[in-house]
Amino acid sequence: MFRDCHPERSAQHVVEGSGNAVLQVQNLSVAFGFDKNGKPREGMKPLQVTDKVSFEINPGEFFALVGESGCGKSVTAMSILRLLPQPSAQIVEGSVLYKESSDSAPIDLAKLPLADLRKVRGSEIACIFQEPMQALNPVVTIKKQLMEVFKFCKRSKGGFMTVIREQLALAGFKDIDRVLNSYPHELSGGMLQRVCIVMALLSKPKLIIADEPTTALDVTVQAQVLAVLKDMANRTGTAVLLITHNMGIVSQYADRVAVMYAGRIVETGAVRDVIDAPMHPYTQGLLAAIPENHSDMRTMKSIPGSVPHPRDFAKGCRFADRCEKCTEQCRSEVVPPKQKASGSSNHEACCFCL
Ligand code: SF4
Repeated sequence: MFRDCHPERSAQHVVEGSGNAVLQVQNLSVAFGFDKNGKPREGMKPLQVTDKVSFEINPGEFFALVGESGCGKSVTAMSILRLLPQPSAQIVEGSVLYKESSDSAPIDLAKLPLADLRKVRGSEIACIFQEPMQALNPVVTIKKQLMEVFKFCKRSKGGFMTVIREQLALAGFKDIDRVLNSYPHELSGGMLQRVCIVMALLSKPKLIIADEPTTALDVTVQAQVLAVLKDMANRTGTAVLLITHNMGIVSQYADRVAVMYAGRIVETGAVRDVIDAPMHPYTQGLLAAIPENHSDMRTMKSIPGSVPHPRDFAKGCRFADRCEKCTEQCRSEVVPPKQKASGSSNHEACCFCL
Protein backbone atom coordinates (compact mmCIF):
# COMPACT_ATOMS: atom_id res chain seq x y z
CA MET A 1 0.00 0.00 0.00
CA PHE A 2 2.78 2.44 0.83
CA ARG A 3 5.65 1.27 -1.37
CA ASP A 4 7.22 3.18 -4.20
CA CYS A 5 10.26 2.19 -6.22
CA HIS A 6 12.22 5.41 -6.58
CA PRO A 7 12.61 5.01 -10.36
CA GLU A 8 14.56 8.26 -10.39
CA ARG A 9 17.39 6.72 -8.31
CA SER A 10 20.76 7.11 -10.02
CA ALA A 11 21.34 4.14 -12.31
CA GLN A 12 25.12 4.12 -11.72
CA HIS A 13 24.61 2.96 -8.12
CA VAL A 14 22.82 -0.20 -9.18
CA VAL A 15 25.40 -2.98 -8.76
CA GLU A 16 25.88 -6.71 -9.10
CA GLY A 17 24.91 -8.80 -6.07
CA SER A 18 24.17 -12.42 -5.38
CA GLY A 19 21.08 -14.16 -4.03
CA ASN A 20 17.83 -12.70 -2.75
CA ALA A 21 19.16 -11.11 0.45
CA VAL A 22 17.51 -7.82 1.30
CA LEU A 23 20.86 -6.60 2.65
CA GLN A 24 24.39 -7.78 1.89
CA VAL A 25 27.18 -6.16 3.86
CA GLN A 26 30.44 -7.03 2.13
CA ASN A 27 33.93 -6.42 3.60
CA LEU A 28 32.80 -3.27 5.37
CA SER A 29 35.58 -1.35 7.10
CA VAL A 30 34.89 1.93 8.92
CA ALA A 31 37.49 4.35 10.24
CA PHE A 32 37.31 7.58 12.29
CA GLY A 33 39.52 10.65 12.07
CA PHE A 34 38.85 12.37 8.73
CA ASP A 35 38.37 16.06 7.93
CA LYS A 36 35.68 17.64 5.74
CA ASN A 37 37.73 16.94 2.62
CA GLY A 38 37.77 13.22 3.40
CA LYS A 39 41.50 13.36 4.26
CA PRO A 40 43.01 12.13 7.55
CA ARG A 41 42.97 14.94 10.15
CA GLU A 42 46.28 16.73 10.44
CA GLY A 43 48.73 14.85 12.61
CA MET A 44 46.30 11.96 13.09
CA LYS A 45 46.23 8.43 11.75
CA PRO A 46 42.60 7.34 11.12
CA LEU A 47 41.44 4.74 13.59
CA GLN A 48 39.90 1.70 11.87
CA VAL A 49 37.19 0.27 14.13
CA THR A 50 35.65 -2.42 11.92
CA ASP A 51 37.53 -4.78 9.63
CA LYS A 52 35.97 -6.41 6.54
CA VAL A 53 32.62 -7.10 8.17
CA SER A 54 30.41 -9.30 5.97
CA PHE A 55 26.93 -10.71 6.51
CA GLU A 56 23.62 -10.89 4.73
CA ILE A 57 20.01 -10.68 5.84
CA ASN A 58 17.23 -12.47 3.98
CA PRO A 59 13.70 -11.10 3.53
CA GLY A 60 11.63 -11.49 6.71
CA GLU A 61 14.60 -12.81 8.70
CA PHE A 62 15.39 -11.85 12.32
CA PHE A 63 19.17 -11.47 12.28
CA ALA A 64 21.21 -10.62 15.37
CA LEU A 65 24.64 -8.98 15.56
CA VAL A 66 25.95 -9.76 19.02
CA GLY A 67 29.02 -8.73 20.98
CA GLU A 68 30.29 -6.72 23.93
CA SER A 69 30.23 -2.93 24.13
CA GLY A 70 32.96 -1.48 21.95
CA CYS A 71 33.14 -4.40 19.51
CA GLY A 72 31.88 -2.33 16.56
CA LYS A 73 28.33 -3.66 16.18
CA SER A 74 26.61 -0.26 16.46
CA VAL A 75 29.19 1.34 14.15
CA THR A 76 28.41 -1.40 11.62
CA ALA A 77 24.64 -0.90 11.99
CA MET A 78 24.82 2.89 11.74
CA SER A 79 27.11 2.77 8.72
CA ILE A 80 24.41 0.87 6.76
CA LEU A 81 22.43 4.12 6.48
CA ARG A 82 25.55 6.29 6.84
CA LEU A 83 24.34 7.72 10.15
CA LEU A 84 27.79 7.96 11.71
CA PRO A 85 29.17 11.41 12.65
CA GLN A 86 30.39 13.27 9.59
CA PRO A 87 32.98 14.02 8.39
CA SER A 88 34.96 12.06 11.00
CA ALA A 89 33.64 8.56 10.18
CA GLN A 90 34.19 7.14 6.71
CA ILE A 91 33.54 3.81 5.03
CA VAL A 92 37.07 3.06 3.84
CA GLU A 93 36.31 -0.27 2.19
CA GLY A 94 33.41 -2.50 1.24
CA SER A 95 29.80 -2.21 0.15
CA VAL A 96 26.29 -2.28 1.59
CA LEU A 97 24.00 -3.79 -1.02
CA TYR A 98 20.29 -3.20 -0.52
CA LYS A 99 17.73 -5.02 -2.65
CA GLU A 100 14.18 -3.75 -2.58
CA SER A 101 12.60 -6.87 -4.09
CA SER A 102 13.69 -10.24 -5.46
CA ASP A 103 13.58 -8.96 -9.05
CA SER A 104 15.23 -5.59 -8.47
CA ALA A 105 18.98 -4.99 -8.81
CA PRO A 106 20.85 -4.21 -5.58
CA ILE A 107 22.05 -0.67 -4.93
CA ASP A 108 25.17 0.16 -2.93
CA LEU A 109 24.11 2.35 -0.01
CA ALA A 110 27.76 3.08 0.79
CA LYS A 111 28.09 5.03 -2.45
CA LEU A 112 24.54 6.28 -3.01
CA PRO A 113 24.23 10.09 -3.24
CA LEU A 114 22.84 11.56 -0.04
CA ALA A 115 19.63 12.77 -1.74
CA ASP A 116 18.86 9.21 -2.86
CA LEU A 117 19.91 7.72 0.48
CA ARG A 118 17.37 9.97 2.26
CA LYS A 119 14.59 8.23 0.30
CA VAL A 120 15.79 4.87 1.65
CA ARG A 121 16.11 6.06 5.27
CA GLY A 122 12.88 5.55 7.18
CA SER A 123 10.76 4.38 4.26
CA GLU A 124 12.75 1.33 3.10
CA ILE A 125 15.14 0.80 6.01
CA ALA A 126 13.91 2.11 9.38
CA CYS A 127 15.70 2.37 12.72
CA ILE A 128 14.72 1.82 16.33
CA PHE A 129 17.18 3.31 18.78
CA GLN A 130 18.13 2.50 22.35
CA GLU A 131 16.47 5.49 24.04
CA PRO A 132 12.85 5.95 22.91
CA MET A 133 12.59 9.19 24.91
CA GLN A 134 15.35 10.70 22.79
CA ALA A 135 13.96 9.30 19.55
CA LEU A 136 10.64 11.12 20.03
CA ASN A 137 9.96 14.87 20.16
CA PRO A 138 9.05 15.74 23.78
CA VAL A 139 6.74 18.66 22.87
CA VAL A 140 4.64 16.93 20.18
CA THR A 141 1.84 14.43 20.83
CA ILE A 142 2.26 10.79 19.80
CA LYS A 143 -0.57 11.19 17.29
CA LYS A 144 1.14 14.06 15.50
CA GLN A 145 4.48 12.25 15.47
CA LEU A 146 2.95 9.11 13.99
CA MET A 147 1.06 11.15 11.38
CA GLU A 148 4.34 12.80 10.36
CA VAL A 149 5.59 9.47 8.98
CA PHE A 150 3.08 9.79 6.14
CA LYS A 151 4.41 13.22 5.12
CA PHE A 152 7.63 11.56 4.01
CA CYS A 153 5.99 8.48 2.56
CA LYS A 154 5.01 9.15 -1.04
CA ARG A 155 3.09 5.90 -1.31
CA SER A 156 0.55 6.86 1.36
CA LYS A 157 -3.00 7.00 0.04
CA GLY A 158 -5.09 8.08 3.03
CA GLY A 159 -6.85 6.32 5.88
CA PHE A 160 -3.82 7.11 8.01
CA MET A 161 -5.57 7.13 11.37
CA THR A 162 -7.12 3.72 10.69
CA VAL A 163 -3.67 2.30 9.90
CA ILE A 164 -2.15 3.91 13.00
CA ARG A 165 -4.91 2.56 15.26
CA GLU A 166 -4.57 -0.94 13.79
CA GLN A 167 -0.81 -0.91 14.33
CA LEU A 168 -1.09 0.41 17.89
CA ALA A 169 -3.58 -2.37 18.65
CA LEU A 170 -1.15 -4.94 17.23
CA ALA A 171 1.55 -3.45 19.45
CA GLY A 172 -0.60 -4.34 22.45
CA PHE A 173 -2.08 -0.92 23.32
CA LYS A 174 -5.57 -1.05 24.82
CA ASP A 175 -6.41 2.62 25.45
CA ILE A 176 -5.37 3.90 22.04
CA ASP A 177 -6.96 7.37 22.37
CA ARG A 178 -5.02 8.06 25.52
CA VAL A 179 -1.76 7.00 23.85
CA LEU A 180 -2.43 9.12 20.77
CA ASN A 181 -3.15 12.24 22.82
CA SER A 182 -0.19 11.79 25.15
CA TYR A 183 3.16 13.54 25.08
CA PRO A 184 6.18 11.21 25.37
CA HIS A 185 6.78 12.03 29.06
CA GLU A 186 3.29 10.75 29.88
CA LEU A 187 4.10 7.19 28.74
CA SER A 188 6.46 4.58 30.21
CA GLY A 189 9.71 3.55 28.50
CA GLY A 190 8.22 0.26 27.32
CA MET A 191 5.16 2.04 25.84
CA LEU A 192 7.40 4.58 24.09
CA GLN A 193 9.53 1.86 22.56
CA ARG A 194 6.38 0.13 21.27
CA VAL A 195 5.32 3.48 19.76
CA CYS A 196 8.75 3.63 18.07
CA ILE A 197 8.22 0.12 16.67
CA VAL A 198 4.83 1.19 15.26
CA MET A 199 6.43 4.33 13.83
CA ALA A 200 9.20 2.31 12.17
CA LEU A 201 6.69 -0.10 10.59
CA LEU A 202 4.16 2.49 9.34
CA SER A 203 6.05 3.01 6.08
CA LYS A 204 6.30 -0.78 5.57
CA PRO A 205 10.12 -0.91 5.37
CA LYS A 206 11.95 -3.97 4.06
CA LEU A 207 14.38 -3.88 6.97
CA ILE A 208 14.39 -2.52 10.52
CA ILE A 209 17.68 -1.86 12.30
CA ALA A 210 17.01 -2.18 16.04
CA ASP A 211 20.07 -0.97 17.98
CA GLU A 212 19.88 -2.36 21.54
CA PRO A 213 16.12 -1.54 21.63
CA THR A 214 15.59 -2.86 25.16
CA THR A 215 18.81 -1.89 26.92
CA ALA A 216 17.32 1.29 28.42
CA LEU A 217 14.12 -0.45 29.58
CA ASP A 218 13.16 -2.22 32.80
CA VAL A 219 13.85 -5.96 32.64
CA THR A 220 10.13 -6.61 33.17
CA VAL A 221 9.12 -4.99 29.86
CA GLN A 222 12.09 -6.04 27.71
CA ALA A 223 10.51 -9.35 26.70
CA GLN A 224 7.19 -7.65 25.88
CA VAL A 225 8.88 -5.10 23.58
CA LEU A 226 10.92 -7.75 21.75
CA ALA A 227 7.86 -9.98 21.36
CA VAL A 228 5.97 -7.04 19.81
CA LEU A 229 8.87 -6.31 17.45
CA LYS A 230 9.14 -9.96 16.37
CA ASP A 231 5.38 -10.39 15.96
CA MET A 232 4.84 -7.17 14.00
CA ALA A 233 7.86 -7.76 11.76
CA ASN A 234 6.58 -11.29 11.05
CA ARG A 235 3.15 -10.00 10.08
CA THR A 236 4.58 -7.51 7.61
CA GLY A 237 7.43 -9.70 6.33
CA THR A 238 9.97 -7.10 7.48
CA ALA A 239 13.53 -8.28 8.14
CA VAL A 240 15.13 -7.18 11.42
CA LEU A 241 18.78 -6.51 12.19
CA LEU A 242 18.96 -6.67 15.99
CA ILE A 243 22.05 -5.23 17.65
CA THR A 244 22.50 -6.67 21.13
CA HIS A 245 25.07 -7.72 23.70
CA ASN A 246 22.64 -10.25 25.18
CA MET A 247 23.05 -13.87 24.03
CA GLY A 248 19.85 -14.78 25.92
CA ILE A 249 17.84 -12.43 23.70
CA VAL A 250 19.53 -13.86 20.61
CA SER A 251 18.62 -17.43 21.57
CA GLN A 252 14.98 -16.47 22.13
CA TYR A 253 14.22 -14.23 19.15
CA ALA A 254 16.78 -14.46 16.33
CA ASP A 255 16.87 -16.84 13.36
CA ARG A 256 20.55 -16.30 12.56
CA VAL A 257 23.39 -14.62 14.40
CA ALA A 258 26.79 -13.07 13.72
CA VAL A 259 29.15 -12.82 16.70
CA MET A 260 31.39 -9.77 16.56
CA TYR A 261 34.61 -9.15 18.45
CA ALA A 262 36.99 -6.17 18.20
CA GLY A 263 35.69 -5.02 14.83
CA ARG A 264 35.54 -8.45 13.19
CA ILE A 265 32.87 -11.09 12.77
CA VAL A 266 34.25 -14.25 14.35
CA GLU A 267 31.32 -16.65 13.96
CA THR A 268 28.03 -16.81 12.04
CA GLY A 269 25.28 -19.37 11.72
CA ALA A 270 21.72 -20.36 12.50
CA VAL A 271 21.04 -19.54 16.16
CA ARG A 272 20.33 -23.16 17.07
CA ASP A 273 23.65 -24.34 15.55
CA VAL A 274 25.67 -21.59 17.24
CA ILE A 275 24.08 -22.19 20.62
CA ASP A 276 24.23 -25.97 20.48
CA ALA A 277 27.81 -26.16 19.17
CA PRO A 278 29.65 -22.82 19.39
CA MET A 279 32.90 -22.97 17.42
CA HIS A 280 34.80 -19.84 18.45
CA PRO A 281 36.17 -19.54 22.01
CA TYR A 282 34.61 -16.05 22.31
CA THR A 283 31.13 -17.40 21.48
CA GLN A 284 31.71 -20.22 23.96
CA GLY A 285 32.60 -17.60 26.57
CA LEU A 286 29.48 -15.53 25.86
CA LEU A 287 27.26 -18.59 26.22
CA ALA A 288 28.97 -19.69 29.42
CA ALA A 289 28.19 -16.25 30.86
CA ILE A 290 24.38 -16.42 30.44
CA PRO A 291 22.94 -16.66 33.99
CA GLU A 292 19.84 -18.59 32.82
CA ASN A 293 22.10 -21.44 31.63
CA HIS A 294 23.31 -22.10 35.16
CA SER A 295 21.12 -23.49 37.93
CA ASP A 296 24.18 -23.20 40.17
CA MET A 297 25.68 -19.69 39.83
CA ARG A 298 29.09 -21.05 40.85
CA THR A 299 29.36 -22.73 37.42
CA MET A 300 28.81 -19.41 35.64
CA LYS A 301 31.96 -18.05 33.97
CA SER A 302 32.98 -14.60 32.89
CA ILE A 303 35.44 -13.69 30.15
CA PRO A 304 38.41 -12.00 31.80
CA GLY A 305 39.52 -8.55 30.56
CA SER A 306 37.74 -6.34 28.07
CA VAL A 307 37.58 -5.61 24.33
CA PRO A 308 40.83 -3.87 23.27
CA HIS A 309 40.74 -0.27 22.04
CA PRO A 310 41.06 -0.05 18.23
CA ARG A 311 44.44 1.63 18.78
CA ASP A 312 45.65 -1.63 20.38
CA PHE A 313 44.28 -4.13 17.84
CA ALA A 314 46.88 -6.86 17.37
CA LYS A 315 48.14 -8.25 14.05
CA GLY A 316 46.99 -11.77 14.93
CA CYS A 317 43.86 -12.81 16.79
CA ARG A 318 42.34 -9.87 18.67
CA PHE A 319 40.86 -12.20 21.29
CA ALA A 320 44.27 -13.67 22.14
CA ASP A 321 44.74 -11.83 25.48
CA ARG A 322 41.45 -13.25 26.80
CA CYS A 323 41.50 -16.71 25.25
CA GLU A 324 42.32 -19.86 27.24
CA LYS A 325 43.28 -21.69 24.04
CA CYS A 326 45.71 -19.03 22.80
CA THR A 327 49.00 -20.24 21.26
CA GLU A 328 52.03 -18.37 19.90
CA GLN A 329 50.62 -18.80 16.40
CA CYS A 330 47.43 -16.91 17.40
CA ARG A 331 49.44 -13.80 18.27
CA SER A 332 51.91 -13.80 15.39
CA GLU A 333 49.88 -14.95 12.38
CA VAL A 334 46.83 -13.54 10.66
CA VAL A 335 43.77 -15.55 11.68
CA PRO A 336 42.68 -17.95 8.89
CA PRO A 337 39.46 -17.27 6.94
CA LYS A 338 36.19 -18.65 8.24
CA GLN A 339 35.83 -22.43 8.27
CA LYS A 340 32.53 -24.26 8.11
CA ALA A 341 31.33 -26.57 10.86
CA SER A 342 31.16 -30.19 9.74
CA GLY A 343 27.72 -31.05 8.41
CA SER A 344 26.56 -27.43 8.27
CA SER A 345 26.49 -25.24 5.18
CA ASN A 346 26.28 -21.89 6.90
CA HIS A 347 27.73 -22.26 10.41
CA GLU A 348 31.29 -20.93 10.27
CA ALA A 349 33.96 -19.32 12.42
CA CYS A 350 37.55 -18.14 12.14
CA CYS A 351 40.03 -19.45 14.70
CA PHE A 352 43.28 -21.45 14.70
CA CYS A 353 41.80 -24.04 17.06
CA LEU A 354 39.05 -25.32 14.73
S1 SF4 B 1 42.71 -17.84 17.14
FE1 SF4 B 1 43.74 -18.52 19.02
S2 SF4 B 1 43.50 -16.84 20.47
FE2 SF4 B 1 42.06 -16.51 18.83
S3 SF4 B 1 40.18 -17.41 19.55
FE3 SF4 B 1 41.22 -18.97 18.35
S4 SF4 B 1 42.43 -20.14 19.82
FE4 SF4 B 1 41.82 -18.22 20.82
